[in-house]
Amino acid sequence: MKAILDHVGIAVKDLAAALAFYRDALGLEIEPPEEVASQRVRAHFIPVGDAKLELLEGTAPDSAIAKFTDKRGPGLHHITLRVDDIRAALDHLKARGVRLIDEQPRPGAEDAQVAFVHPSAAHGVLVELKQAPATRDAVIASAGRSPATTVTRHTVGDLELVSLHDGTFRLDGGSMFGTVPKVLWEKQAPANAQNQIILAMRPLIVRGARTMLIDAGLGDKESAAFHERYGVDRGRSLAVTMAEAGIAPEDVDIVLATHLHFDHAGGFTTRDRSGRVRPAFPRAQYIVRRGEWEDSNRSSAQTRSGYLADNCAPLADAGVLQLVDDDATIMPGVRVRRTGGHTMHHQIVLIESKGRSAACTGDLIPTAAHVRDGWLSAFDLYPMEAMAAKEQFATEAMEKDTLVFFAHDPAIAAGYIREEDGKRRILPA
Ligand SMILES: [Zn+2]
Ligand SMILES: [Zn+2]
Repeated sequence: MKAILDHVGIAVKDLAAALAFYRDALGLEIEPPEEVASQRVRAHFIPVGDAKLELLEGTAPDSAIAKFTDKRGPGLHHITLRVDDIRAALDHLKARGVRLIDEQPRPGAEDAQVAFVHPSAAHGVLVELKQAPATRDAVIASAGRSPATTVTRHTVGDLELVSLHDGTFRLDGGSMFGTVPKVLWEKQAPANAQNQIILAMRPLIVRGARTMLIDAGLGDKESAAFHERYGVDRGRSLAVTMAEAGIAPEDVDIVLATHLHFDHAGGFTTRDRSGRVRPAFPRAQYIVRRGEWEDSNRSSAQTRSGYLADNCAPLADAGVLQLVDDDATIMPGVRVRRTGGHTMHHQIVLIESKGRSAACTGDLIPTAAHVRDGWLSAFDLYPMEAMAAKEQFATEAMEKDTLVFFAHDPAIAAGYIREEDGKRRILPA
């Protein structure tokens, strides 16, 4: 079992006196207090390197901390060890006959799950086990990356590009990186206790002769059960980020799809008050590759995964769907190119103006980590084709110094492809 010292709990009777030592005499910084109502205790955390001290103050005479200090005076109360999987840790200890206070984890401070081992088993020390919450911020911070959910603007010649956000979801890290060993991918994309990684959904606006939206995220039609299954967090939704960018749904002339999986095409439609599903962008023409459209309507078990009927059929019903057969220019400076690989008719969007270039790669390079040829996801239906398309695209993008937009990277909206010692990496924009 891997356990890391998280903090040392110190029971305090007179908080002012304790602060006079820890804060004033030692000069340490005290974090704002946190109340754990169920334990009738107030916790004051003090960062000391990678671990913390925790001053514990009883908030009622019958709290465990008040009873502790009444009986023994203030002093060392417990040490807390952080484990990756608290249930597995408890099972492991139980199997070795270790006496536990808590056989099941319970909620602790800072939204963590905790469980106590009996002091008799730990040679007189109360040991708390803790599993930190796997929030998006915690997962990303643990890899030293900060989540990027802000709207960013980029200029490519005469065109303006605006990177938007439709929240995040979670997928199994192993599925997302296919045959890449976990020891390699988890450095790029830290996984939570369920082995899931965080993925953003990043639609892109291109403003030129017309206003175009490329992909639209998950949208607002899915059930709470669906959100639960995929760990969806749409706090930073497409509607919110579009409003921040000063773009109204009515401003969009063209909606363009890289492909029709739910995390790209869900936002194409919305459910109105009567429960009817209608196009989310009332003036827009929706442009989809014919082969992709046909596959999304097919009943093959393989192609159907990821396609949801409500995202597409209402577009045809509303008469706003335009199918394109081949690689074509969609508006001045913007063209599509079939890559296949991820789905048979997956396409990328190439943007060029005045000698500058950008690209929206859809699920060809979903995150910056996927820029290496062999880093394919298990969701790619045609992996060899995906690898070849990626190689071709990356070579071109390096020649043209293309600004590459990533549909799913939680931290990097866009960057440039660089190659050093035969290894590709992304230089964030
Ligand atoms: Zn996809
Ligand atoms: Zn996707």
